[in-house]
Amino acid sequence: MKLAVAKEIEMGENRVALIPDTVARLVKQGIEVWVEAGAGERSFFADEAYAAAGAKIISDPNTLWGEADILAKVSPPQEREGKHEVDMLREGAVLIGFTNPLGNPSLAQKLAQRRITTLSMELIPRTTRAQSMDALSSQASVAGYQAALIAAAASPKFFPMLTTAAGTIAPAKVFIIGAGVAGLQAIATARRLGAVVEAFDIRPAVKEEVQSLGAKFVEVKLDEETVADNGYAKEISEVSKQKTQETIAEHVKISDVVITTAQVPGRKAPLLVTEEMVAQMKPGSVIVDIAAEQGGNCACTQPGRDIRYNGVTIIGTTNLPSSTPIHSSQMYAKNILTLLQYLINKEGEFNLNFEDDIVKNTCVTHAGEIRNQKVQEALDQLRVNA
Ligand code: NAD
Repeated sequence: MKLAVAKEIEMGENRVALIPDTVARLVKQGIEVWVEAGAGERSFFADEAYAAAGAKIISDPNTLWGEADILAKVSPPQEREGKHEVDMLREGAVLIGFTNPLGNPSLAQKLAQRRITTLSMELIPRTTRAQSMDALSSQASVAGYQAALIAAAASPKFFPMLTTAAGTIAPAKVFIIGAGVAGLQAIATARRLGAVVEAFDIRPAVKEEVQSLGAKFVEVKLDEETVADNGYAKEISEVSKQKTQETIAEHVKISDVVITTAQVPGRKAPLLVTEEMVAQMKPGSVIVDIAAEQGGNCACTQPGRDIRYNGVTIIGTTNLPSSTPIHSSQMYAKNILTLLQYLINKEGEFNLNFEDDIVKNTCVTHAGEIRNQKVQEALDQLRVNA
């Protein structure tokens, strides 16, 4: 079985799907690993390191894509020199990576038409059993860490309290909205830098986690259930939105830094920081909006751009995990390795058991069909809107 590691061609994507260490483990298991020349260059893993791990370095992308039984990558396949990468795969091949199936169901349709088996890393279930395959979590924690560092670098203030001969400096006040995986990592990082941190989330269950990281949990009592059966946040009513916005406004106004991470799966990110709230902030304040790619939690956010509004810097950062490519690749590679080891048996055969919840959730296309109900619905919706 040939497992191929593709070079990422997406602009700004510095990660690689497998690093030499994980390649070595797979080679030891008897898997033939092919790595596209330069695949690890932007994450500082040289071709020589892959070769030393037992991989074959392939210079021609057509050979790599066309002969792979399994192809691992990070970002969704796309056009490459006049061809679509999906068309470079052979029928029946397996593609593993982020494919954004709910945001871009047309790609899933294309993959199904080409009879590719697609395993989408964003659909790994968020269960204890699948924890070490959970790429959304591994990459979100990188994003949270980076967001706190970017905020600290952009702020005209120190994060920690400093007592110096030139006087005492008060610590920065950081407010984190959304205390999921990214938010919790942003809290931990801002705390390590010495800031005073507050956090808000509509899921009350995160209160203890927030407090255990040394931050204050901002509470809003809502008269409705805010958590869906799958543990994620639900879309809330207009009344609840109004109530949360009043509280958010009070805390945004007094903060030096606001980091927004709030998301609701399958929907546009909720708008939580309005233009009026930004206008009330002190000049020099900073907002880092991790949800920028999903439309942003702040009304002033421009995805991929840093802007100034009334003296407030708003950073609409995208693909944060790509800015720490060694460690984000290392974590992503571990997620892929665990998934592969789960699917490949001792005899080296790749097996998909559709009774298994990890396979059932993650497999978007197989044998010419879209197998994921939600992706099919997203595609149907797209057709209705067309
Ligand atoms: P996410 O990226 O979808 O959202 C980030 C945070 O935004 C969440 O905490 C959410 O509650 C919050 N949010 C949504 N709307 C909001 C609003 N209007 N105001 C304030 N906050 C809002 O979430 P995530 O970080 O990917 O994951 C969170 C969920 O996944 C949790 O239920 C978590 O326990 C679960 N999870 C479980 C596992 C596991 O069991 N292995 C692993 C990772 C995550």
